[in-house]
Amino acid sequence: MGEFELIARYFTRPTARAVLGVGDDCALLQPAPGTQLAISSDMLVEGRHFFSDVDPGALGHKALAVNLSDLAACGATPLAFTLALALPRADDAWLTPFSRGLFALADAHGCELVGGDTTQGPLNICITVFGEVPVIHGKSQALLRSGAKVADEVYVSGTLGDARLALETMRGTITLPAEMLAQARQRLEQPTPRVALGQALRGVATAAIDVSDGLLGDLRHILQASAVGATIDTSIAIHLIAACDRPDWSTGIISLEKQLDCVLAGGDDYELLFTAPVSARAAVQAASRLAHTPVTRIGRIDLEPGLRLIDSQGNALPRSFPSFDHFA
Ligand code: ADP
Ligand code: MG
Repeated sequence: MGEFELIARYFTRPTARAVLGVGDDCALLQPAPGTQLAISSDMLVEGRHFFSDVDPGALGHKALAVNLSDLAACGATPLAFTLALALPRADDAWLTPFSRGLFALADAHGCELVGGDTTQGPLNICITVFGEVPVIHGKSQALLRSGAKVADEVYVSGTLGDARLALETMRGTITLPAEMLAQARQRLEQPTPRVALGQALRGVATAAIDVSDGLLGDLRHILQASAVGATIDTSIAIHLIAACDRPDWSTGIISLEKQLDCVLAGGDDYELLFTAPVSARAAVQAASRLAHTPVTRIGRIDLEPGLRLIDSQGNALPRSFPSFDHFA
């Protein structure tokens, strides 16, 4: 199978929303009148972002999911994406499940594959997504990192830390019972981009980011961009690990210390971290219901710069949590 046959067989489908899809020198998109294009790229590299034996269907899902998560964090509505793919070989047993996983998520979000590039080489997947954000009375409705205000409250969607639990189990640094590993592994390999929540938070959240490198590291990006500080209640945050939130869970399996590590500094969760004023509490709950996505209030924005971690008594936690950095 040659390059063009491969593109035709696995990655060419009719488009409904894009003016022109795969097959010419450029794709053509027509954003709706009164909207801006939101654009983001994410790359997945074998050995760096995924294990070489990962299920190709899950990989197809994740490659698009991490990109849709960026659109979600911006409050954008997905429109289209491109796929730049380096493959060691044209292998149907890999390409069929990969494209199936990719298109299943794409179809669920009405996001069309409109182009890309295909080359032989070590497995590397780079996706660029395009989304729409409305402009109302001349003002972009995009959620940015820079809008957090003093006295806003800090929220996170869904669950946090399970992806890291799975990663550490697969690396052999901790041991999880099989059933819990299966649940955690699902979060690592097939994350759910919070696209509906991001859109529902337009005009409600003051700042937002998706949690890809760890809660505290990503919160620091909001704090820096907004020139504010924050206090996070770790006694609330620690309950965000789904795998640990079970009646049959015996707390001895994973130490509290490790659970905190996973929640605060584990990456790959792709939840939304956002801020909103106290006056918007009801609107945040309404957005959560509309998007069928739970949200938890975990802290507040302060005038004092920096990030403070407290326990249930309000006492400062005496430790720090590094976040992920590819070059650190
Ligand atoms: P060019 O020579 O202009 O770069 P290519 O020959 O690389 O074009 O690609 C031919 C067509 O197939 C283009 O429309 C391109 O966008 C599309 N394409 C190539 N690889 C992929 C892919 N992996 N997924 C989707 N579309 C692709
Ligand atoms: Mg090309």
